[in-house]
Amino acid sequence: MRQKLVVGNWKMHGSTAQVRQLIEGVATGSADLKKVEIAVGPTLLHIGLAAELCASDAAGHLKLAAQNLFAEPAGAFTGEVSAPMLAEYGVNYVIVGHSERREIFAETDQVVAAKFKATQASGLIPILCVGESLAQREAGISAEVVLAQLNAVIEAAGIEALQSTVLAYEPLWAIGTGKTASKEHAQEIHRVLREHIAKSDTTVAKGIRILYGGSVNAANATELFSQADIDGGLVGGASLKVEEFVSICKSAD
Ligand code: PEP
Repeated sequence: MRQKLVVGNWKMHGSTAQVRQLIEGVATGSADLKKVEIAVGPTLLHIGLAAELCASDAAGHLKLAAQNLFAEPAGAFTGEVSAPMLAEYGVNYVIVGHSERREIFAETDQVVAAKFKATQASGLIPILCVGESLAQREAGISAEVVLAQLNAVIEAAGIEALQSTVLAYEPLWAIGTGKTASKEHAQEIHRVLREHIAKSDTTVAKGIRILYGGSVNAANATELFSQADIDGGLVGGASLKVEEFVSICKSAD
C-alpha cells in the first residue's frame, strides 16, 4: 500500500511571517492525521526557517521540500544552491522538472535528469514533474510527452533510481489556471506512467508514488485522490491557504 503524499509548492511567495503562520497552521490543522505524509515547499531563502519550524512540530510529521537546486555539489556557480546544502538543512524532497523551470528557465530534459541524480546522490528524494501543454493535449499526445520526459531520466539514472522516488503528473494547462484535469484523464496518464515503469521493473512500478498537480483544491482533492494510481497531490495556489491545504491533506488521509 503506497502512503499518500501531499506537497505544497509555495513558489516565489512568502515572507518570514507568512512562512511561520503557514507552517504553524498546517502543523496544528494536520496534527490528528494519521496516514497522509505532508511536505511544505518554501523558497530556498526560507528553507532554514521552515526547517526549524517543521522540527518543532509536535506531531513531527511535516516534511520539507525544496523547489529547486543546482546539479553540482559546490563551485563557482553564482546564485545557486546544491543538494548537499539542502541536505544539511534537513530537506527531504526536491521538486525537479517543474514546468515553470522547464519553460521560464529553459531547463532541458538533460538538466532535469542531472538535478534528479544530484538530489539522490545527497540522499534526498526527487519529485520529478512531467506534463504536457494544452496544444499537446489537443493533439492527443499527452502520454507520449510525459513518457519522453520520464524516459530522459530513466536513460540517465537507470530504472532502479526511480525506487522510492516520487513522480508528479502536472498538465501545464491545469497549473494555476483553475482548470483541473478530470479524474479520468489524470488516472489514465498515471496508469500509463506506472505501466511504462512496470515494463522494466514491477517492484519499482508498484512502489513509486505518482502525485497529481494542477489546480488541486479542497473541492476536487477527494475524487482525484480516490483514483487507483493517484497517490496524492502537488499543490500550488491552494497550499498558501492553511485551511484549504489542511482540507486537501485530510482528503488524502
Ligand atoms: C504547481 O505549481 O505545482 C501547481 C500544481 O500549481 P497550482 O496548484 O496552483 O495549479
